[in-house]
Amino acid sequence: MALMAGADCQQCAPSGGAACLGLGIAPSEIAAHDALLAALPHPAWIADLAGGLVLAANRAAEGLFGHAAGGLLGQVAAGLLASPEDMAWWAGAAAGELLPLHSDTLVGLPHGGPRLVSRSIAVIGGGGTQILVMLQDRSAEQRLSQERDSLLAELQATLESTADGFLVTDAVGRITAFNQRFAQLWSLPADLLQTGEGSAVQGWMASSVTDPQDYLSRLQALRLDPTLQASDPLTLRTGQTFERVTRPLLADGRVQGRVWSFRDLTSGIAAQERIETMALTDALTGLPNRRQLSDCVAQATHGARRSGGSFALMLIDLDRFRHINDSLGYDNGDRVLLDVAQRIQGCLRQDDVLARVGGDQFAVLVGTAGAPAAEATARRVLAVVAKPCSVDGATFTLTCSIGIALAPAHGSRIDDLSRHAEAAMRASKHAGRACFRLHQARAEGDRRFHMQLDHAMRQALVSNRFRLRYQPLVDLASGAIVGAEALLRWRDPELGEVPPGRFIPVAEESGFIVAIGGWVLSQAVRQAALWHHRGLSVPVAVNVSALQFQQPQFVERVASVLAVAGLPAALLELELTESILLHDAADALQRVHALARLGVRLAIDDFGTGYSSLAYLKRLPVGKLKIDRSFVTGLPDEGGDAGIVRAILQMARALGMAVVAEGVETEPQRAFLQAAGCDQFQGFLFAPALDSLSFESRLLASRCAERPPAAQGVMPERAAGAAHIRLVSG
Ligand code: C2E
Ligand code: CA
Ligand code: CA
Repeated sequence: MALMAGADCQQCAPSGGAACLGLGIAPSEIAAHDALLAALPHPAWIADLAGGLVLAANRAAEGLFGHAAGGLLGQVAAGLLASPEDMAWWAGAAAGELLPLHSDTLVGLPHGGPRLVSRSIAVIGGGGTQILVMLQDRSAEQRLSQERDSLLAELQATLESTADGFLVTDAVGRITAFNQRFAQLWSLPADLLQTGEGSAVQGWMASSVTDPQDYLSRLQALRLDPTLQASDPLTLRTGQTFERVTRPLLADGRVQGRVWSFRDLTSGIAAQERIETMALTDALTGLPNRRQLSDCVAQATHGARRSGGSFALMLIDLDRFRHINDSLGYDNGDRVLLDVAQRIQGCLRQDDVLARVGGDQFAVLVGTAGAPAAEATARRVLAVVAKPCSVDGATFTLTCSIGIALAPAHGSRIDDLSRHAEAAMRASKHAGRACFRLHQARAEGDRRFHMQLDHAMRQALVSNRFRLRYQPLVDLASGAIVGAEALLRWRDPELGEVPPGRFIPVAEESGFIVAIGGWVLSQAVRQAALWHHRGLSVPVAVNVSALQFQQPQFVERVASVLAVAGLPAALLELELTESILLHDAADALQRVHALARLGVRLAIDDFGTGYSSLAYLKRLPVGKLKIDRSFVTGLPDEGGDAGIVRAILQMARALGMAVVAEGVETEPQRAFLQAAGCDQFQGFLFAPALDSLSFESRLLASRCAERPPAAQGVMPERAAGAAHIRLVSG
């Protein structure tokens, strides 16, 4: 049938549905087409097979192609869908092959480009002369599917990039998914995974853990309750620790399987352990740090409270450690610290805790200790630290200053104990270092008295109220006076006679000792010069405090005082304590040598109370040791004292040093000392400290007695002063 296209068709008017183009189709047929097309939910049109033109189209089709109502009528149907498949269909139709077509294809649209549609072509009516073409828009579906694909890809990539291993199993335990990390974590053989057998893989995992039995029974519990969520730590035979988290896989509220995730916690646990250790220990020495010490003190406090016992906190500060770092470098400084830590550790008891609480500060919690035990520990620590150190070819002596606080006597909290131990340690430093101090709970009144004393002392110096007394030093063999020790005296108008043992520590604490010491030095040197110029040359010894010795200009000051007075340096002797010489060995050594170069004599005072090492003493240009009075008191009967004195004498002899015994009060003491080979003595037996005139008389008498024919070793009759003794040597 030929198409009769006409501009005006009287038979049909534009309708709401399909429209006719005057193709010679009966109005009833048009109406049927319109009704059919309008009923279809998707774009559709009817075309004439022979002419290939669109006879009718519904609104959806017109809208799809961007046409107004009736806009598709008369269009070439093959032009609307021009895919190769459509073209092939039209060719087939021309040859009489009128098979229905149903497939997905792309349709080109004027706006928005090609769109995916499902297109079906069916031959209809008119004796097979017409076709119905219907499109179903698949673009939304396509978009969804693309989105789903990219989501899946994203998910897969995420699963593969996570540090956790994943395994997904279905309701009967078959593997439905896993990531590579899972296989890697469990070192799973590829063929085992390939089987998809969840039970085989679980068997492999069970055999990899330290407790397979526990693993399998846990698995059974999960199997029995598919809704169970669980998180379990697993310890592997390799030493690793995994965390296994499992939860049901739900879809539409129904359990479809299980998701398992495995996380390797091994390095995390190790790191955590490291962090914890680091937080509680000192990196260099591995000793507990301040925090751990606090915990130990808290425990000790608790224990002491229950048992009614006590303990001590000891703060150990290395003296002038900075010099070690400065001269030997930080690496060697670290080595020295390690060495010191080992030494201290080695002299502690089992239940004492050694901690490093600062660069060159250590602390010891001395368990179950009262003052005597704590002091004994401090003595041991002083001794081991003062042993010679050798690093990088350099040998030196290190010392430390120690402060001790007792619990509960001085406090129970770490803060209080630390504060008190620190103050006591500072007091040790002040006293010349290389010693220990126990915290003194000083009463308020005591503090006020200190201030008062300090003030009065300053007044005394400007008001010239200090006096020097001279105690004779006597040669044990000849009984002759061979020297004098200048000792300070102070009579205050209000306080009366204040003994040096009382005011010198206060002056040392306040630093005023530097001024007092300076006065003593010039006064004693002036007196010695006076005697010297009158033909009564006698060496005068002056006590030197730590702080005074440490003054940068000390050596220059000594030289200038000697020069001003015109006294030969050999007639001045400086008495230094062991702690002065030890506290900053290198510096002290230099200073001592400078003094020796001046020609000044040097003596070590109060010998035996410090911790000098023989090796160190050997390097000092010191000519004399003064045995402390405390060792002389018990002579000759107390075995301990006698032993110590003999040992000191032996040592001094080996070093070529002279020895003076202090505080000799009795004849048996003197006799013992003489027999033991001691060189000189001083003490009330011969004379206390005398004013200069009295001393001079005794000296003159001594010199007269020395002159022949007077017998050697016979002491002069009392010339002046308190002692009225006649001593006979032997
Ligand atoms: P030191 O240097 O050990 O002086 C010896 C002390 O022993 C003196 O006490 C002296 O009087 C005393 N002494 C001497 N013989 C005997 C004795 O037979 N029996 C007894 N019981 N004591 C005896 P002093 O004068 O009270 O001095 C005490 C300390 O004060 C001195 O001990 C010294 O460390 C210090 N000192 C005294 N004068 C000065 C000074 O000018 N400068 C400094 N820095 N310290 C001084
Ligand atoms: Ca002295
Ligand atoms: Ca002394």
